[in-house]
Amino acid sequence: MKEISIVEPVFFTQFKCSGGACRDHCCKGWNIDLDKPTVNRYLKTRDATIRAIAAENIITTKKSYKKWGLINVSDNKSCAFMDENRLCSIHSSMGAAALSPTCAIYPRAENIFKYHIQKSLTLSCPEAVRQLLSGPEAMLFNESKIVKPHGYNTDSLDQGAQLINLMCSTIINSSGTEVEEGLYGIALLFLYLEKLDDDAEKYEKLEAYYYDIIASLQRGDIKNSINEIEPDHQLQWSLLVRLQGYLGARPTSRGWGALNHYAHRLAYIQSEGLKQNDMLQPMQRLRCAWHEKVMPWLSAHPHIMSNYLKYRIYTDGFPADRTITPLANLYLLVAEWFLIKSLMAASADLTGKIDENDMINILYSFHAVTKHDQISTAAFLQEIEHTKVNDDLSLVYLLK
Ligand code: SF4
Repeated sequence: MKEISIVEPVFFTQFKCSGGACRDHCCKGWNIDLDKPTVNRYLKTRDATIRAIAAENIITTKKSYKKWGLINVSDNKSCAFMDENRLCSIHSSMGAAALSPTCAIYPRAENIFKYHIQKSLTLSCPEAVRQLLSGPEAMLFNESKIVKPHGYNTDSLDQGAQLINLMCSTIINSSGTEVEEGLYGIALLFLYLEKLDDDAEKYEKLEAYYYDIIASLQRGDIKNSINEIEPDHQLQWSLLVRLQGYLGARPTSRGWGALNHYAHRLAYIQSEGLKQNDMLQPMQRLRCAWHEKVMPWLSAHPHIMSNYLKYRIYTDGFPADRTITPLANLYLLVAEWFLIKSLMAASADLTGKIDENDMINILYSFHAVTKHDQISTAAFLQEIEHTKVNDDLSLVYLLK
């Protein structure tokens, strides 16, 4: 018999779908894949109403067992099975067991290794974001064990990668509200990692250096290093414009309306600068809004950005993409964080404030639009390649 450990963050354990009260229901705005048994169950049910809705709305594609059919709810249409109270008629008529795997699982997700399961929630669900941001304990972990005759038929958890992942998470945690310092600390860790030989002492040396970074954070050395960096507004502007250009060209999907609402505020500030033929003025304006309007609110809610970045590190298995360097993975994370930060700053600048509602809207819509396929990640990496100066270390200019 084999012991399997199951890890889940507190916000996963506490999650409860908000159902009809949801601000952007997951049963609209994107296609819902149905597996073969679900397609047959709905088309052949004795419930005449469900059968009729199924016959009219399920498109049978037979692409694979898991993608045997789909319900087309794109173009902001609601799922045909949603009733007048915005609740699922399959659930109410046939019970939870009749739901398709997609509907039953969402927004839950898990990474399965041979003897480990890591559970999480996808942040395209606004209620998942609300839970993540709800308190300092949301990204603490519950661990349980189950016993099975065999491990899962997948790779084992890479202990070295897991150690690096935990170091990154602890560095962010140690930086408190000043997450820029945490991101800078991770950059130092990855630079050092690049220089290490792949020998028996590699992780011992890395661990010693990691403790140095934690000490530097506590002494304020990293804060001083960041203070010495001159902000590169040109780089920030170019990156933002490229990422916005990509997002603007994406087909509309769930979350698009909310993301666009905040993107318009950012574009307005940029256009004001362009009118005066000064691209740097909007970047300074955003920086000012961040420090004067967003940071005071974040200081009163110190877990918010830390929880978000710890979520990304844990759920993405950061640095997840083994085809690029850890530093390039960090560049992607910092670029996405910079875009999110700019959306927050623009909104705070134009409305005079930022609140939890804005945070939920920005994060869930960003994840709904960019995290449901690998296309955006590849496109963002491409935009970074076009923008960065010299090497991956130019990411530090996004931290000012
Ligand atoms: S998006 Fe999340 S909260 Fe909203 S209906 Fe779907 S699972 Fe429930």
